[in-house]
Amino acid sequence: MRIEIVYDNTSQRQDMKAAWGFSAYMKEHNLLFDTGGDEEILVENMKKMGIHPGEIKYVFISHPHWDHIGGLDKLMELNPDIVVYAPPSFGEDKNIIVVEEAGKIMSGIYSTGELNGIEQSMIVESNKGNILLVGCSHPGVDRIIETAKKFGSIYAIIGGFHDFKKFDALKGIELICPTHCTKYKEEIKSLYPRNYMEGGAGCVLEI
Ligand SMILES: [Zn+2]
Ligand SMILES: [Zn+2]
Repeated sequence: MRIEIVYDNTSQRQDMKAAWGFSAYMKEHNLLFDTGGDEEILVENMKKMGIHPGEIKYVFISHPHWDHIGGLDKLMELNPDIVVYAPPSFGEDKNIIVVEEAGKIMSGIYSTGELNGIEQSMIVESNKGNILLVGCSHPGVDRIIETAKKFGSIYAIIGGFHDFKKFDALKGIELICPTHCTKYKEEIKSLYPRNYMEGGAGCVLEI
């Protein structure tokens, strides 16, 4: 499974902009996880990574904060066929499938369902194990992991951890990529040096 970070608070490539927000693309599923904060930067960064709006079939929205939905309207304008999977906190709109609870949303993809009335996280199957994608982790990374484990053990976790501090919850996860709003990156890196991976726009994870 190839996961490409297209939008992040930091950037690994000089030709790609860093801006507050998060978005990652899975070509294998034609699925974009969240849409960053600024539509211009999203579209520009996607272009730099060779991702065309026309190839996106699905957008998974973790939660309705500006730094995760900023590019959505623009993408829908560029490709009106996109199907959006959003939590109830997002509200209803056309082309939107409201994910009510934890479960499979399509082949190889699961949602934790909306936790704490705000946010859903996404689980993607890969040859090595399940990959957990998180937006801001407002419900707490530990709670998200517990819920995601329903669908199998977790091989990798990628996304924003916010101010998460219960670092023990990450034990046993092979690849940890805390990025976006993660406050305690350095602590996680020093606790799990072998597993830690730096995120940032332009980062490509082959799992
Ligand atoms: Zn948020
Ligand atoms: Zn965020």
